[in-house]
Amino acid sequence: MNQAKQQAESKSIPTVKLLINGEFVDSTSTEWRDIVNPATQQVLARVPFATNDEVNRIVASAKAAFHTWRKTPIGARARIFLKYQQLIRENMKELAALLTAEQGKTLPDAEGDIFRGLEVVEHAANIGNLQMGELANNVASGVDTYTLQQGLGVCAGITPFNFPAMIPLWMFPMAIACGNTFVLKPSEQDPMVTMRLVELALEAGIPPGVLNVVHGGEAVVNALCDHPDIKAISFVGSTKVGTHVYHRATLAGKRVQCMMGAKNHAIVLPDANKEQTLNSIAGAAFGAAGQRCMALSAIVLVGEANNWIPELVEKARSLKINGGTEVNTDIGPLISCAARERVEGFIASGIESGAKLELDGRNPDVPGYKDGNFVGSTIFSGVKPGMKIYDQEIFGPVLCIVSAATLDEAIEFINDNPNGNGTAIFTQSGAAARRFEEEIDVGQIGINVPIPVPVPLFSFSGSRASKLGDLGPYGKQVILFYTQTKTITARWFEDGAVTGGVNTT
Ligand code: NAD
Repeated sequence: MNQAKQQAESKSIPTVKLLINGEFVDSTSTEWRDIVNPATQQVLARVPFATNDEVNRIVASAKAAFHTWRKTPIGARARIFLKYQQLIRENMKELAALLTAEQGKTLPDAEGDIFRGLEVVEHAANIGNLQMGELANNVASGVDTYTLQQGLGVCAGITPFNFPAMIPLWMFPMAIACGNTFVLKPSEQDPMVTMRLVELALEAGIPPGVLNVVHGGEAVVNALCDHPDIKAISFVGSTKVGTHVYHRATLAGKRVQCMMGAKNHAIVLPDANKEQTLNSIAGAAFGAAGQRCMALSAIVLVGEANNWIPELVEKARSLKINGGTEVNTDIGPLISCAARERVEGFIASGIESGAKLELDGRNPDVPGYKDGNFVGSTIFSGVKPGMKIYDQEIFGPVLCIVSAATLDEAIEFINDNPNGNGTAIFTQSGAAARRFEEEIDVGQIGINVPIPVPVPLFSFSGSRASKLGDLGPYGKQVILFYTQTKTITARWFEDGAVTGGVNTT
C-alpha cells in the first residue's frame, strides 16, 4: 500500500484520546497501536503511547485539581456517584456492545463486567458512611483523641484487558469519592469502553482535572511509578508486571496495591451435588474463554469424584463457540492472535508432557468468524506439578484435572501452588467446607460457589503470588488505602481556668 493511501486509511480510523484537565485531546505521540475486534480482526480505533511530556501534564492537572477537590463536601462527592450509577444503567447496552466489540466476551458477560463495576460506583455513592474517623472521649482529663481520614493527593490506576469496565471502576470511583484526584492508565488492548465510562463520569459531574486518562505501555507505567507527585498506585494484571510495579513504585515512596495472576483450583468431593458442580465448573473454567482472573483453571477430584470426568467432558463439549454478539454464545474469542497462539502452545506442551488430552479445543469451526481468535474448551487429566500447563497461568479455556485421595491431600496440593487468588470447594459436608476455609491459603473462597468475587461491601483479596500490598480494592480496605489517617489529640481550656506550669515530661 502506498504511503498516501496508508495515511488516508489511518486518518479514517478513530483515535482514542487522552483526558487532561477535563479535555479529551489527541496525543502527539508517534507510537500508536491498533485496537482490533478479536472475532473479526477489524481495526476499531488506534490508541497512543503517550509521551513523557503528556504524562507530566496529566499528573500536573491532577495535582492542581486536588487543591479544591479535597475540600469538596462529602455529600457533593457522593451525589456525583449517585448520578454516575444512573448514567451507567441508562447506557448499559451501548457500553456492553462496545466492550464486546473490542474485548470479545459475550454480550451478557459484558453486561456482567459493567454491572460488577456499577456496584462499586453505588458503593462510592455511600462515601458519607464510609470515610469516617474514630473518636475516644476523655483519653486524659479534658482531652479527646480523634482521627481524620483525608485524601492522599494524586492516585493512579493501571488496569488489565480482561475486565475493561469492572476494574477501572474498582479504582477511580472510590479514590475520587475519598477526595483524591486520579490518573487512569487503561489496558492498551481494549481502552474504548473504559473511555466511554470516563465520559459518563464527567457527565455525572466530576470536575476538570479530578479524573484524567493516559494511554501507553511499559514506559508510561514506569513514568507513573516514578512520578514524585503520585501518592498511590492501584494495579491489576499479571504477576510479572505487578511485581515490577510494586517494587518500582514502593521504592519511589508510594502506597501500592497489586492484584495479580492466578491458578484457581476447585476441590470436588464425592458427596457434592454432581449436576450443579459440573455445570458450575464448566461455566467457571470456560466462560469468558477462560480469561477471568477468577476462572477455575484446575480442579482436584477427590476419591469417587474421579469417575465424573466423562460427564464433565460432555458438558464442556456442548458449550457453543461463536462471536460474542451472537445469541446463546458460551465462548467468545481470545483477546488477540498472540493470545490464541500462546494458548495453543500450552495445549501442545500439555500433550508433550504426558497429560491426557480429554478434550481438544484447538481450531474450532466457527462459521462467519473464520478470522476470530477462537479456542474451544480443552480438558487435560493426569496433570502434575512440573508440567508447564500446571505451573503457569494459561489464561484461556483450558482446564487441568488433578486427582487426590483425601480432602487434606487436596488442600495441601492447593497450598503448594504459588498462587492464591481464588478457590472453591464442592461438597454437601459443612465440616469439610469449614476445614477447607480454615486451612486454605487463598484470598477468595467459594463454598459451592465457583467464582466467589466479593460484592463491594467487602474487599477483593489475594494470597502469596496473587497479591502485593496490604489493602485490597473496594470495600472497607480501600478507604484506608486511599486516605491518610491523621490522629488528633485535643485539649481546650475554658476562659479563666487555671492551668499548670510548663510540662517537661
Ligand atoms: P498485564 O500485566 O500484561 O497488563 C496489565 C497492565 O500493565 C496493562 O495496563 C499494561 O499496559 C501494563 N503493562 C504490560 N506490560 C508492562 C510492562 N512490561 N511494564 C509495565 N507495565 C506493563 O495483564 P493483562 O494481560 O492485561 O491481564 C491479564 C492478567 O491480569 C492475568 O494474569 C490475570 O490473572 C490478571 N488479573 C488479575 C486480577 C486480580 O484481581 N487478581 C483481575 C484481573 C486480571
